[in-house]
Amino acid sequence: MGTSLEPRESQVAEVIDRLEDEYPDSTISLVYSNRLELLIAVMLSAQCTDERVNSVTADLFEKYETAEEYANADQEELAADISSITYYNNKAKYIRSSTQTIIEAYDGTVPDTMTELTSLSGVGRKTANVVLQHGHDIVEGIVVDTHVQRLSQRLGLTQESAPKRIEQELMPIVPETHWQQLTHLFIDHGRATCTARNPDCEGCVLEDICPSSKLDSEVDLASGEPWEQ
Ligand code: SF4
Repeated sequence: MGTSLEPRESQVAEVIDRLEDEYPDSTISLVYSNRLELLIAVMLSAQCTDERVNSVTADLFEKYETAEEYANADQEELAADISSITYYNNKAKYIRSSTQTIIEAYDGTVPDTMTELTSLSGVGRKTANVVLQHGHDIVEGIVVDTHVQRLSQRLGLTQESAPKRIEQELMPIVPETHWQQLTHLFIDHGRATCTARNPDCEGCVLEDICPSSKLDSEVDLASGEPWEQ
């Protein structure tokens, strides 16, 4: 039986508790060794798997080490260097433009505020939140990616669909101490069990508190559609 706990604060607390037991080492899976590399990796990861990004950045970070090297890179050459990544042409443009801004406006260092980070080309609130959390140890919000979006909806934590609105709904009900970890836990569970298509509800540690559970719900609250048989 999947019934969510009331109020939503209790549901969130129980979900976090169980997922922490399930994924005790949950953390960011992008590989980087400094803030610039983190920023580039997160920019590349939009609509792309972390695994693919890591395989590309292994060589990319050898070839380009400074903001100047990215900013002065030839557009076609940089695009070719990241060509196995989705939207590589646009991402190459964003990387060149944002590193240019970093040099001109921020003395060559990756900025540490939401406003400054989101002033960079191709950097939205999600990317900025990741860079703040993992690059600067500043937690200003909750990173809402596709897994956080889907699981929050399925678990009855939000009925919103836009990431920014979901973040606004989650922030008051998730303890601030867990704003960062919630994302990693949801990503791990979204990859391992609560996949977009055909989640393994029978093997899920959240089944009894999930109002979308296929075992007794007709509807996937993430899509609003009946589960595929
Ligand atoms: S796997 Fe099923 S039961 Fe578990 S959180 Fe996802 S939809 Fe709910």
